[in-house]
Amino acid sequence: MQLSEKVIALGRQQYDETTTDDNRAVRDPVITAFGMAMQLAGYRPVMTQSGCMDLRPCPHCPAGKSSYSARYAKAGEEFWACPICTQVTKATQAAVSAVAAN
Ligand SMILES: [Zn+2]
Repeated sequence: MQLSEKVIALGRQQYDETTTDDNRAVRDPVITAFGMAMQLAGYRPVMTQSGCMDLRPCPHCPAGKSSYSARYAKAGEEFWACPICTQVTKATQAAVSAVAAN
C-alpha cells in the first residue's frame, strides 16, 4: 500500500515546523519528513542494536535509487516503508526472523 498523501503532507508540515538551523544539517527534507509522517500514521521505527534505523535498498524503486527503505512496527506487525516511492509493505515472516536471528 501507499502511505496516504494527507499523512505525507502532515509529515512535511511537522518537518518544516521543527527544523531549525541547529538540526537542519542532520535532517533530510524527504527522508526525515517521511519518517515523521510514518509516526503520525502510528508506525514506530524499528532500531538496530546500535540505535540506527534499520535500512535496506527499496525493492520497488529502480535499482540504486533508494537505499532508505526502513523497518517499522505497528500493531505487532512489521513493515518496510520507502520515503522515495512511499510504499509501505508488510515484512514477510522469513525476513523478520532473519533479522531477529542477527
Ligand atoms: Zn522505494
